[in-house]
Amino acid sequence: MKVPFLDLALQHRALRGEAMAALAATYDAHRFCLGKDVEDFEGNFASALGYPNALGMNSGTSPLHVACMAAGFRPGDEVIVPPFTFIASAWGVNYVGATPVFADIEEDTFNLDPAALEKAITPRTKGVVVVHLFGLPARMDEIMAIARRHGLFVIEDCAQAVGARYRGTPVGLFGDAATFSFYPTKNLGACGEGGAFVSRRPDVAAQARLIRVHGMERRYHHRIVGGNFRMDGFQGALLNVKLPHLLSWTARRRAIARSYREGIRPECAALPEAPAYGESVYHQFTLTHPRRDALREHLTARGVGTDLIYPVPLHLQPCFANLGYARGSFPAAEKAALTCLSLPMFPELTDEQVAHVVDSVNSFR
Ligand SMILES: *Cc1c(COP(=O)(O)O)cnc(C)c1O
Repeated sequence: MKVPFLDLALQHRALRGEAMAALAATYDAHRFCLGKDVEDFEGNFASALGYPNALGMNSGTSPLHVACMAAGFRPGDEVIVPPFTFIASAWGVNYVGATPVFADIEEDTFNLDPAALEKAITPRTKGVVVVHLFGLPARMDEIMAIARRHGLFVIEDCAQAVGARYRGTPVGLFGDAATFSFYPTKNLGACGEGGAFVSRRPDVAAQARLIRVHGMERRYHHRIVGGNFRMDGFQGALLNVKLPHLLSWTARRRAIARSYREGIRPECAALPEAPAYGESVYHQFTLTHPRRDALREHLTARGVGTDLIYPVPLHLQPCFANLGYARGSFPAAEKAALTCLSLPMFPELTDEQVAHVVDSVNSFR
């Protein structure tokens, strides 16, 4: 049996008719940059997920950039980022000339360790990027208490956690700004690039709205330095087609995760942590194993697709060599990078495929 790591074709085939009609309407109305489809999506997204606002942007990296601009981070400022995440979590900090400073993760949740965050703070620390990795909320009570004590601007990178809640509150409503990605492989994926910016703070949301379109208050009058971070109309139209399915897709991801948890024997691999404060939306189902590469080969031989997410922590990436970190700087992130293995996780997996993944992991010796 073949179990691909990810197959978007099934979802896109099912929605093809509706998607083509939506795209045709956008095409015929020439709504190419922002416009009604994007505005509709912003309203639908905000109300479906419990946010006071949402700004459609042209990737998930853009709102991180915009958040760092809105925060006013400047050269000389330090912003703390976990080293085990997608590289874009750190990019915004670089784009405004500030310095990313890494703080280690918790081994069991893969998320920022509040104790490590507190230890990394210096008089130059101005903010923190909190990532809800693989769909699991980070420990927001502890993180926000530390951030408030030190006056930090908190950016929540929710790229992998759309729909997740921490103690009942949607992720993204704790910090000063929240960012989402609609890259095609995300839980809610566009057919192209897309992202969103959310803030519970009206002042920050207003600033981000200005930055999104060239800092422009009135046409050709530019109050602040901005950029072009606009979502395109086709993506807004497609996301409006997909958004109504997000709840059921998330429920299916959770059901698959439950089957993995119930089926995979604990002596065969270490399952991802499931803390009581909030259920993951399972962007990934990532287990760990000391002989990860051998397990991966075993699964490949049985037709099970897997991926290494992420094989190299940020502090060991060549692009950040100038920051002066070395192997050993962040033991938990380095261990995760060496032992993690992500299993197939997408709503269209069949029960038979899920059972085959479970059997395949359990048969590894
Ligand atoms: C996908 C992702 C991003 C960036 O989103 P793009 O849409 O690819 O620009 C940022 N942070 C995390 C954690 C991501 O997974």
